[in-house]
Amino acid sequence: MAHAAAQRLMGIGAAPGMVEGRAFMLDRARAVVVRRRLEGPAEVGAEVERLRAALQLSDRQLVEIKGKVHDGGEHALILEAHRLMLQDPLFAEAAEGIIAQEYVNAEWAVRKVVRKLRAEFEKMDDAYFRERRADIGFVGERVVRNLLGHAADLDPEREEMPPQSIVVAHDLSPADAALLLRKGVVVGFVTDVGGHTSHVSIVARARAIPCVVGVGRASEAIERGDLLLVDGRAGSVTVNPTGVQVEQFRRAAQRQVEAERALHVLRDLPTVTTDQVKVSLLANMEFAEQVPAILEHGAEGIGLYRTEFLYLEREDLPTEEEHYQAYRAVLEAMGERPVTIRTLDMGADKLPRQVAARRREREPNPAMGLRAIRYCLKQRELFMAQLRGLLRASVHGNLKIMFPMISGLSELREAKGMLLRAQEELTREGIPFAARTPIGIMVETPAAAWAADKLAQECDFFSVGTNDLIQYSLAIDRQNREVAYLYRPLHIAVLRSVRFVVEAAHSAGIGVSMCGEMAGEPSFALLLIGMGLDALSMEPGQIPLVKRLLRSATAEEGRQLLERAVRHNTAEEIDRFVRAQMEARFGELLE
Ligand code: PEP
Ligand code: MG
Repeated sequence: MAHAAAQRLMGIGAAPGMVEGRAFMLDRARAVVVRRRLEGPAEVGAEVERLRAALQLSDRQLVEIKGKVHDGGEHALILEAHRLMLQDPLFAEAAEGIIAQEYVNAEWAVRKVVRKLRAEFEKMDDAYFRERRADIGFVGERVVRNLLGHAADLDPEREEMPPQSIVVAHDLSPADAALLLRKGVVVGFVTDVGGHTSHVSIVARARAIPCVVGVGRASEAIERGDLLLVDGRAGSVTVNPTGVQVEQFRRAAQRQVEAERALHVLRDLPTVTTDQVKVSLLANMEFAEQVPAILEHGAEGIGLYRTEFLYLEREDLPTEEEHYQAYRAVLEAMGERPVTIRTLDMGADKLPRQVAARRREREPNPAMGLRAIRYCLKQRELFMAQLRGLLRASVHGNLKIMFPMISGLSELREAKGMLLRAQEELTREGIPFAARTPIGIMVETPAAAWAADKLAQECDFFSVGTNDLIQYSLAIDRQNREVAYLYRPLHIAVLRSVRFVVEAAHSAGIGVSMCGEMAGEPSFALLLIGMGLDALSMEPGQIPLVKRLLRSATAEEGRQLLERAVRHNTAEEIDRFVRAQMEARFGELLE
């Protein structure tokens, strides 16, 4: 087969790893649906029956695929979520309503419902929810195929896939991914659409299969059998590479494997600089399923457990018992390691589905509105349920409680007052809880940063939330792409705020960590230690590299780097200077 000349496509690196293989094109074009007008009311009943049968068949198919997925983790959960969408009465009722009112065939009605639901997801600010529009599309397509009598799933037995196949598709449903992985020959995924939180990305990461998504035109540019070099970290796909490119790629892949092996060796070693400054490297988490990976990467504890993520996909709010069970599971799994659980940070970019739609109309500027601790202090019942759940869980491990978005001392006192009330209630009811659970705050508003000396008098620890601190300090909406270029962690205003916070914490004798994205950026690691931060909390995957850097440097180097950095004037200059210094110092490690 004649292959086209070499070309390099770029997308989003969604699951790391470097792999070489042959393209296996998956054409999952949407079925063609024609609008058919029903003869009259008499035909409505039969059409509704057809719809219900297709829904049931779709559900059975998903159960069957789920049975074949043996990872029992993310993948099974996603397929289960698809079942829930199918079973949602709103889905069936909406389609039945269209059949009955518009006298149209079931296929047409399903497509219409899917379009409407996708449009609703589209409006959401949160990337995770926007990605969910693909799910509703996959579920709808399955029902339509069943209505039309087409095969709803791939038949992996019939697909001839050579070893080392890299699946290239416009998009890939979790069901397709599950079936393909069963063949045992798939070594990579490349898709035109999707983002970091698409399900194919989640599944690929969970199964350690390199994956590049959002390539745009991969399915057009690549042909079956093309040789591909996929770099799932860099997000690149080289199509029909030259011999030299293959050689370079293999060498880089080998280096990556060796580097990872070396990083793994560090897992159980402490993070201590060569001048004996101890730093705790902690993990940020959203879902209990992440705990094994967190331990695997050598985290010393959890620095930020974003509890609201547990509930964002629900219509209602969690009960005290649900809070208790969720936290207990994580505390027990983490043993003696500290687990910092942040109370609900509802509002702004994090809202349950229903509430988000209603609130957007009422709060034109939600990031500055009723969010996080403000929301909880208004919704006392909801807050109380969480506080009681937390306290009850405190006997099962090493719990620390953290309040988000504190903007002044009165708010901290009020939140602590509620906690005290929860303790009194539990004491009266004879329910045990740990006597001294450390209470801390997120420092993520400029107000909290500049009131840090006061706040430090009345809490046990600080965690600097730079995602919001940068947003509010630089007046840059973290959701708004138009101003993303101004989002500069090394802006002097941010650096000065963090320094002040660290000094205030240490003068009061309390610990201070950082848990925004900035904390996990390897190029900033030394600078942050130079500032005196006691702990850094990050995505678990970042821990080994940051640990390796810090174990081979001195805190004194960090202090000097900081002093020299702040002599530069613009954020760009500081950024360029720090990265250049780090590259000169650590070379290949930071590539
Ligand atoms: C932060 O603001 O830095 C932070 C860690 O919290 P979140 O990203 O959840 O707002
Ligand atoms: Mg925040």
